[in-house]
Amino acid sequence: MEQFKTLGICEPILRAIEDERFIKPSEIQEKSIPYILDGRDVVAESATGSGKTLAFGAGILHEIEKGEGIQAIVLTPTRELAEQVASSLRLFGKYQHAKITAIYGGMPMEPQIQRLAKTEIVVGTPGRVLDHINRGTMKLGKVNKLVLDEADTMLDMGFIDDVKKIIRACPHEKQVLLFSATISREVNRLAEKYMKNPVTVSVEAYVDASKLEQIYCQVTDKMKFSLLLHLIKREKSGLIMVFCNTQRNTDFIAKNLQKYDISAVAIHGGLNQSKRTSIMNKFHSAKTDVLVCTDVAARGLDIPEVSHVYNYDIPNESKNYVHRIGRTARAGKDGKAISILTKRDQGFFDQVLRDNDVTIIEEEAGNIPQVEIKWMEKPKDQSRRGRKGGQSGGSGQGGHKRGFGSDGKGRPKRAFGIQDKQTNSGGSGQGSPKRSFGNDGAKSQTGRSGPKRSFGNQSQQSSNGRNSQGEQKSTHRRPRQNKR
Ligand code: AMP
Repeated sequence: MEQFKTLGICEPILRAIEDERFIKPSEIQEKSIPYILDGRDVVAESATGSGKTLAFGAGILHEIEKGEGIQAIVLTPTRELAEQVASSLRLFGKYQHAKITAIYGGMPMEPQIQRLAKTEIVVGTPGRVLDHINRGTMKLGKVNKLVLDEADTMLDMGFIDDVKKIIRACPHEKQVLLFSATISREVNRLAEKYMKNPVTVSVEAYVDASKLEQIYCQVTDKMKFSLLLHLIKREKSGLIMVFCNTQRNTDFIAKNLQKYDISAVAIHGGLNQSKRTSIMNKFHSAKTDVLVCTDVAARGLDIPEVSHVYNYDIPNESKNYVHRIGRTARAGKDGKAISILTKRDQGFFDQVLRDNDVTIIEEEAGNIPQVEIKWMEKPKDQSRRGRKGGQSGGSGQGGHKRGFGSDGKGRPKRAFGIQDKQTNSGGSGQGSPKRSFGNDGAKSQTGRSGPKRSFGNQSQQSSNGRNSQGEQKSTHRRPRQNKR
């Protein structure tokens, strides 16, 4: 507690921190809080999980005066993050009894207007905040602190104009705090234009290499889901997050996992707010084991106890890889990040390796059974076209043209994947030493070669022509590292 005190945090917040049993400040707290309490504008490069909410929260709550109107605004890219930040601020500010209101789209205006009239701190998404400002239902005269949380995501999501309008609508004399997982050129431009001589502090994206195991595994398109299912069933897991690049894929994966008795649920921006909140509550209380999500839906969410992160689709923006894996191995716990890679993911995967300082070890899929998949109905506008890339439900399964389509009565046309038949034939590419995962010593496109661990059934491998040496080899690991 002494270390928090030396940062200058006021007594009521210290008490709240003590209740949380935080032992010492996180790196971003240590580096940024003194500047924040000194009234400086701060640009902080730090990701979710770094303790950033307490860092800016200590600054906001420090001077808050009850009953004096809105004094601070925190802008967040998503509704979930708005709720999460608001509840953290309530926790840290519980001895000050400040009123904190979360506002975001998808909810009726009227109750928000009533709460805004009595609040001191507003946490909200840019669109809805601007809406209230324009309607005159959010008074800005007393605002002296503005926080841009996850600024890079807000800009990625196209909120730049709204953010600028909000900054300009606030009083000129204010402290601006910008928190961002990455400081892009656009984020820098925003800081230069709207912040006064800001101090920049940064911490490494927190990935504890000793706690987090990063693995990738190559499969063919048609075995992608089967491998995911196999791993989820095989691995001893706590809560699991499965990342996809599209909303449709999240639905596809969640539905198919449910078919195999796995308690999975999809979350994405296409769901209404009450559904999203109920999903998150279930996941938080561990009533659901697997959250299948898009990057946007997951950004900023602090979900403790995630033991496994699966990249069902490799992120098409390489920095999202780090955001994704940062969901596990938190607070001293072990975690595992597993990327399921098909040929179509290769380009994105190479980009991930080029742009991030990560070590990802290859494991071999081995002989896993191919399971039957329930296909999503084909969207109407794709009925006559061949599928391309990510929007279709089976992008992960995507190369398989036959599996899609309806019978004209809205039913999926066919399901395929007869267990074991293809697996053992050696012709499917699954577990076949010749074709699939490069244990033939030949360097593949990505420079991948050599021995790997195996996810699959090793004795089956032997019967597939692998000798005991092959099995021994499969216990080796070959790290891949950022080449930069
Ligand atoms: P954040 O980056 O703000 O989303 O915080 C991530 C998690 O870390 C939250 O669950 C916080 O309650 C927790 N946390 C924040 N600061 C500390 C700290 N100094 N020690 C331990 N946990 C912390």
